[in-house]
Amino acid sequence: MLPKQYSIIFTKGYGLISTGSGSTYLKNRMRGDMNKTELKKILQGKSAEDSLEKLATLFPGQILFTTSFGIEDQVVTHLISERKLPIEIVTIDTGRLFPETYDVFNRTIKKYDLKIKVYFPDHEPVEKMVTEKGPFSFYYSKENRLECCRIRKVLPLNRALKDKKVWISGIRADQSESRAMMDWLEYDEDKDIFKYYPLFSWTYGQVKDFVKEANIPYNLLHDKNYISIGCQPCTRAVNPGDDFRAGRWWWESDSRKECGFHIKQ
Ligand code: SF4
Repeated sequence: MLPKQYSIIFTKGYGLISTGSGSTYLKNRMRGDMNKTELKKILQGKSAEDSLEKLATLFPGQILFTTSFGIEDQVVTHLISERKLPIEIVTIDTGRLFPETYDVFNRTIKKYDLKIKVYFPDHEPVEKMVTEKGPFSFYYSKENRLECCRIRKVLPLNRALKDKKVWISGIRADQSESRAMMDWLEYDEDKDIFKYYPLFSWTYGQVKDFVKEANIPYNLLHDKNYISIGCQPCTRAVNPGDDFRAGRWWWESDSRKECGFHIKQ
């Protein structure tokens, strides 16, 4: 059970839809054309772990959590594992990750006795890109960087999301300006999938405190001023007070520093 101070209480005002005698109706609606407003009403007022459990019940076999083993993702993995929720956990191995990321991956599966499904990029476009442009093409132009992210991250992710209806992510609102504009529950029309962010309203301090209190394994790079951790050549430590994403693709001036997971292509 999540300590009360960390439970996410969403804006009240909506009554919860009964899941007792109406559960068959609800499940039929979920399989069909349930929209974001209806799903928000069901989750409104629930804690992060209760919302995850509800979604797992409503979308059996169609719910997936993607982790890159950052500190927020570790909290979500903990919540899923503590309740043994039937939510598939997957990660994308781009081939350019830090050794510390593999270390926390290993400690996590051992601690929670978990299987985390790994998706790799298709070898042919990786081979072509690196052969033609070299191993650091992403430093030379934003176009090259997005190409690399697309081949190594976005395309494997699309395979992972195939036939899923709910995608869980560790995004928080205060991670960046563009993320602050998002909602804790979204519907992606292109992918026909709901996106749910259980830690959306958490602060970085709350995440760190929770990890410490619950003794959750975390990437040791966080202790060296790495906040947002992605691929090794595209991530660096930040200074105190820097923007959360300042250490990602730091050579680019665009404030919307995303790999393509959470922006429309
Ligand atoms: Fe390539 Fe860097 Fe994107 Fe990783 S973060 S996929 S190395 S451009």
